[in-house]
Amino acid sequence: MTRKQDRLIDEIAALKRARNAIILGHNYQPGIIQDISDVVGDSLGLSRQAAESDADVIVFCGVDFMAETAAILAPEKLVLFPDRRASCPMAKMATAEEVRGKKAEFPGSVVVTYVNSSAAVKAESDICCTSANAVSVLRSIPEDKQIIFVPDMHLGEYAARITGRDVILWEGYCPAHHHVTPLEVEREMLRRPGALVLTHPECPLDVIEISDAALSTSGMLDYARESDALDFIIVTEVGMLHPLSKQNPGKRFYCPSASLICPNMKLTTLSSIKHALEGNLGVVKVDSKTAQRARLPIERMLAVPRDS
Ligand code: SF4
Repeated sequence: MTRKQDRLIDEIAALKRARNAIILGHNYQPGIIQDISDVVGDSLGLSRQAAESDADVIVFCGVDFMAETAAILAPEKLVLFPDRRASCPMAKMATAEEVRGKKAEFPGSVVVTYVNSSAAVKAESDICCTSANAVSVLRSIPEDKQIIFVPDMHLGEYAARITGRDVILWEGYCPAHHHVTPLEVEREMLRRPGALVLTHPECPLDVIEISDAALSTSGMLDYARESDALDFIIVTEVGMLHPLSKQNPGKRFYCPSASLICPNMKLTTLSSIKHALEGNLGVVKVDSKTAQRARLPIERMLAVPRDS
């Protein structure tokens, strides 16, 4: 830690106290941002924290759709997003207009939308899902309904495979997870004999098939904590190694591919957090009509029992 970083951390702490603010940090954020966050977690868990917290100001360290979801679930709070450039390429792969077009093509279908999507796309959807509950959400949909899964084709394909449902897949993907290959994972397995392979379902199915478990980021943390194994190959964005290592001293975590990095997740800095808090920069606003419509599919998702 440099003296400049120490000073910035002190300044951020003082601003947080003065403004009754909390900092929420995603599991893929740089380690130093995770370390100064009041809560670290996955996108939906953080948005729930935003809604439940007594804070007046939420500084959301992640990417744009996450800050939007926090603003939807906590409309009475001021949500600040430190770096406007931190957008999610996968969320941009579906627009509200395109989703309306697909619904018109398949009338009566149910649109299931991964939370990694814009508020406008959520507003066109019937129900949302996360990587942790996509399977449960698909199982909750009546058998006679056609499902359109937006925007992540890999998560949709994985959930379709597990549930045996016929799903129309959107052609979106997360660039960080999409490019990892079975060969890269197998090479890492040779380097780390005995290591368990935990893979995020945003990865292609052929990578999931050679893994020990397909898990969301929160699922990986639970799995690593409860497992007796000491070595894990973690097939998700490299930032995840930080909370895993921090929460499991004595266990070792390895990233198998150089592609597993999301540059947008790394844009948040201590300076940008300080400036956001000082000057109310990066205020996240979702217009009330869109927010109201987007809230409904999120609430439907939250009502689905985990193992339905
Ligand atoms: S890791 Fe992938 S899904 Fe997550 S923010 Fe980055 S591009 Fe989007």
